[in-house]
Amino acid sequence: MSFAVVNPSTEQVIRSIELASAEEADAAIAKAHEAWPAWRELAPGRRAELLRAFADEVDADLENLARLEVANSGHTIGNARGEAGNVRDVLRYYAAAPERLCGKQIPVAGGLDVTFHEPLGVVGVIVPWNFPMPVAGWGFAPALAAGNTVVLKPAENTPLTALRLAELAERAGIPSGVFTVLPGLGDVVGQRFVDNPVVRKVVFTGSTRTGKRVMAGAANSIKRVTLELGGKNSNIVFADADLDRAAAAAPYGVFDNAGQDCCARSNILVERPVYERFLERMEPVVRGFAVGDPARESTEMGPLISAAHREKVRGYVDGAPVAYTGSAPQGPGFWFPPTVLAPIAADHPAVTEEVFGPVVSVLPFDTEAEAVGLANNTEYGLSGSIWTRDLARGIRVSRGVRAGNLSVNSHSAVRYHTPFGGFGQSGIGRELGPDAAEEFTETKNVFISTEE
Ligand code: NDP
Repeated sequence: MSFAVVNPSTEQVIRSIELASAEEADAAIAKAHEAWPAWRELAPGRRAELLRAFADEVDADLENLARLEVANSGHTIGNARGEAGNVRDVLRYYAAAPERLCGKQIPVAGGLDVTFHEPLGVVGVIVPWNFPMPVAGWGFAPALAAGNTVVLKPAENTPLTALRLAELAERAGIPSGVFTVLPGLGDVVGQRFVDNPVVRKVVFTGSTRTGKRVMAGAANSIKRVTLELGGKNSNIVFADADLDRAAAAAPYGVFDNAGQDCCARSNILVERPVYERFLERMEPVVRGFAVGDPARESTEMGPLISAAHREKVRGYVDGAPVAYTGSAPQGPGFWFPPTVLAPIAADHPAVTEEVFGPVVSVLPFDTEAEAVGLANNTEYGLSGSIWTRDLARGIRVSRGVRAGNLSVNSHSAVRYHTPFGGFGQSGIGRELGPDAAEEFTETKNVFISTEE
């Protein structure tokens, strides 16, 4: 079975990709399992060297990878270069892990007690279409570093950069079977990662609905899971904030990647005395947002991923109160303009659900407690921002909002050297940061008697 990969900016087919069957997925998993002992037993320094060589190949291919992502996913060329660079950096960061996966020596009576971080075996990484390169790297780099082998399924509509990464791994000398990319359908290949007991961990990024299925399926073989699911994130702007900075930054906190970002700050909560002023100051930024050909260096936002997804996004805006919009090209391509909804009821679906498009709702609030309550009025808990000049309030509110990743006076992007993940139905586990390689290991405790 084949799949026609479409350029979302032009609606043209760019390549036809063979989708793996369930049997092919099982064969790839078996091959990864065969490759595991040799990879696990490789000297830590050698595994590190191979990961650095992989990073060098990614670096040398950076422009090609970026252009592939522009064509396949409609990401702006600037973002796509950053995403390819992120894969390189994540590989380099975790290349240091094989030699630093230190256990502990724990004081005990009558002997020596030490812990080891043992790799799990085959790890399945399931990647969504919104960030094909970074999300792949966040899974495979620490998993490989910790001595696991990896099978990776890109989203069916965005497989091109993952397939290229597999070629680059091979070129870097990563042994056959250690890192395998399998384009295929979620309920065929993804489901085999969940159901095949040889896979010992699944790293899944995507919708909460599918994440629940993955977790339920993983329970059958007590398979480890890391889940990075949806988000409904608030950008809280207090009256004492630098309003110009907050208003200039807010659109970038939600419209980046056309809003197809689980961290998108798609609710802006503004303290009532500055509500109107904030909307006024944000308007020129939204109207001036450069939406168009993602290959152009100056473009700030490309198209949505597909016609079906555009219809889903449109559903949130139809009948909703639109304060103002930016522009979007006419003609072919899955375009949608940056859209600001205000004034809007707190129970409108655009306010309560993950829109995953360039749509932001702006709501007023009166007290700090009300702002925190509004931000927490969601089953998700992934990210958010707080704008204030009051440091104590910045700390108080960032402790009060139930989410895994918060920023004060910025909409900081995910950093590969800090942990990333969600509270509540935004997921389970943390990716990235100094401890991610350990998430791909089991701790083994060994007691050695020193009695004569
Ligand atoms: P999904 O969660 O269905 O897809 C994410 C990944 O999971 C894809 O690789 C998909 O494969 C795979 N998958 C699908 N079904 C299964 C299964 N039964 N077992 C294992 N893997 C499976 O998200 P959608 O693409 O359908 O997007 C729907 C909505 O989800 C979006 O509108 C957005 O709101 C949210 N979303 C959130 C993301 C995030 O970053 N948190 C990322 C993507 C979506 P395939 O695509 O090949 O079917």
